[in-house]
Amino acid sequence: MLVQSTVLTEADGDPVAVENGDGRGDVLLVCEHASNRLPENYGDLGLSADALSSHIAWDPGALAVARLMSKNLDAVLIHQRFSRLIYDCNRPPSSPAAIRDVSEVFRIPGNENLSEAEKKRRAAALYLPFQERIGEEIAARREAGRATVIVTVHSFTPVYYDTKREVEIGILHDSDSRLADRMLATAADTKLYRIERNEPYGAADGVTHTLEVHALPAGLLNVMIEIRNDLIEEEVGQRVVADFLTGLLRESLATTGP
Ligand SMILES: [Zn+2]
Repeated sequence: MLVQSTVLTEADGDPVAVENGDGRGDVLLVCEHASNRLPENYGDLGLSADALSSHIAWDPGALAVARLMSKNLDAVLIHQRFSRLIYDCNRPPSSPAAIRDVSEVFRIPGNENLSEAEKKRRAAALYLPFQERIGEEIAARREAGRATVIVTVHSFTPVYYDTKREVEIGILHDSDSRLADRMLATAADTKLYRIERNEPYGAADGVTHTLEVHALPAGLLNVMIEIRNDLIEEEVGQRVVADFLTGLLRESLATTGP
């Protein structure tokens, strides 16, 4: 059993990264699964290099797309600097999915039989500062009389449990579907991508946690975007997807609010 007394060392640094912090756009971009980096105290969690570079550790390509969108939209971007294998910042501490000991077909030895104390330490080190930073950003904007539209950016694996996923971009929402509805309507005629609502999963699977915490109680426009990761492996694909999503958001927001 792996139990750490300290989750992050000084060398690991801050778990939360804020980019384009002075951005003036209405959109606030969030990337919970931006990195596959593990804190130095955790070694490789007993996983192979292949597993550690796969979708179980992070959302490949998502941060690159979010960075391009941040530039396009002059949007503040907040992302987590460590892998969801240590703590999935899009899940509350009460969720069994916050720290998994099995992900798809991979056993994660370093996460087996964790004590409650270790789970709490990980939440305190990674989840709380991340969600608090998002909350602070929204509060500061509210005080300054600025609007906030929360857009979370994710990627998903094209093959899951041996099943190929045909959807290319998922537009996901929780109970407030205003922005998602508008984006889906705006994109209805596009030939560029196969776009679907709440695919390859949706709120019932617990994936809208950040939106639930920050957008729904405050009535902020919000959406979660899922991009199939084979489309954004290379820079050219990342740019095409980022530009497409930028246009889609701009056009949708022009008719929806904020
Ligand atoms: Zn994700």
